[in-house]
Amino acid sequence: MSFGAATRPWMTDELEMVRDTARRFFETECVPHQKKWQEQGHVDRAIWRRAGELGLLCAGVPEQYGGGGGSFLHEAVICEEQMRAMVNSFSINVHSGIVAHYLLAYGTEAQKRRWLPSMAKGETIAAIAMTEPGAGTDLQRITTSAVKDGEDYVIHGAKTFITNGLLADIIVVACKTDPTAKAKGVSLVVIETKDLEGFRRGRLLEKVGQQGQDTVELFFNDMRVPQANLLGGEEGKGFAQLMLQLPRERLVLAIGCAATMQRAVDETLAYTRDRKIFGDSLLHLQNTRFKLAECQTKATIARSFLDDCVARLARNELDIPTAAMAKWWVSQATCEVVDECLQLHGGYGYMQEYPIARMYADVRVSRIYGGANEVMKEIIARAMENG
Ligand SMILES: Cc1cc2nc3c(=O)[nH]c(=O)nc-3n(C[C@H](O)[C@H](O)[C@H](O)COP(=O)(O)OP(=O)(O)OC[C@H]3O[C@@H](n4cnc5c(N)ncnc54)[C@H](O)[C@@H]3O)c2cc1C
Repeated sequence: MSFGAATRPWMTDELEMVRDTARRFFETECVPHQKKWQEQGHVDRAIWRRAGELGLLCAGVPEQYGGGGGSFLHEAVICEEQMRAMVNSFSINVHSGIVAHYLLAYGTEAQKRRWLPSMAKGETIAAIAMTEPGAGTDLQRITTSAVKDGEDYVIHGAKTFITNGLLADIIVVACKTDPTAKAKGVSLVVIETKDLEGFRRGRLLEKVGQQGQDTVELFFNDMRVPQANLLGGEEGKGFAQLMLQLPRERLVLAIGCAATMQRAVDETLAYTRDRKIFGDSLLHLQNTRFKLAECQTKATIARSFLDDCVARLARNELDIPTAAMAKWWVSQATCEVVDECLQLHGGYGYMQEYPIARMYADVRVSRIYGGANEVMKEIIARAMENG
């Protein structure tokens, strides 16, 4: 469905080709495996390598580091297609959209050359571990410690809710290098999980939705990591590094939500057209028409606003409060639209075999992760207050 949102001001022929490749990949090589992935709670490694072969990983990373040499737009298009196809069993966003850009922005030359090329090929799977059982939103309270000992850091602590965590080969871990300092005591250390003593993955967490996505707990017990793995090579920069990447991360999240929102409307339009009720199509009841009109309006507004945010990001002008607006509003609107669309499916909307039911369960978390929506509003209000 494209009414009201036909043109993307930033779309090019090259991006259309990326979209086609991504669409074919997600629809033909991922969708058929979704059920299996959901049952086992994770994807198979092979799909990461296949995504790498097709150039769908690290698309925005320069070619000199093995990436696709594209821009944020390439990643945005891939994200839209992944969410449109409802393939949320492996997080390209965390891998390419977050970890790769941390390495790119802050990594030393040696760090970039060590990890980015194999991430682009899908041979190395990446995760980021900030959240702890006792500290989510309030990241300054993390207690995972990294203490210098000879050439190494000795890391001790636990993380939870870590996306891609079961399969991850490298994990960017937020640690306290100075436990007496708050934000300035936080550093990011990259751990390489293979045969790493003191590193343990906990159970696969059973979530409300996104069941194919491996989300796990991690435990570090006197885990030794070379000091050379400190991201950027300088302690105490972790919090600032996290903050600087937020607009980009939040925009990608909002773009994924907007794609889900449009898919929900498209599904519901088709369903209500076919469903017969009182001798006519469900689509011809005025309530159905008004609800669908409202939902499409929200999807169109989201897309227009996000197009503006994308243009700002490309000019390096997307500020933190505007990205926070995109994140909270689009994720909230998506939950509302999916809920309305489920209602229009009647009992079938509550059945797992219908895409709308899965969307309902999958999208709920978007108001919580990437910064809870209440935090987004606080950021906006603070910016308003300070002029
Ligand atoms: C499926 C899933 C995947 C995730 N993936 C990752 C990952 O890969 N890496 C990672 O590090 N983390 C990940 N997370 C963690 C996620 O980022 C946190 O859940 C999130 O930051 C919220 O932290 P919390 O769960 O500890 O909730 P809390 O911080 O305890 O917050 C609870 C609630 O309090 C309210 N609240 C919080 N702050 C404020 C405020 N300032 N003002 C008003 N109200 C407020 C909000 O309603 C919030 O939802 C994931 C979580 C989930 C569910």
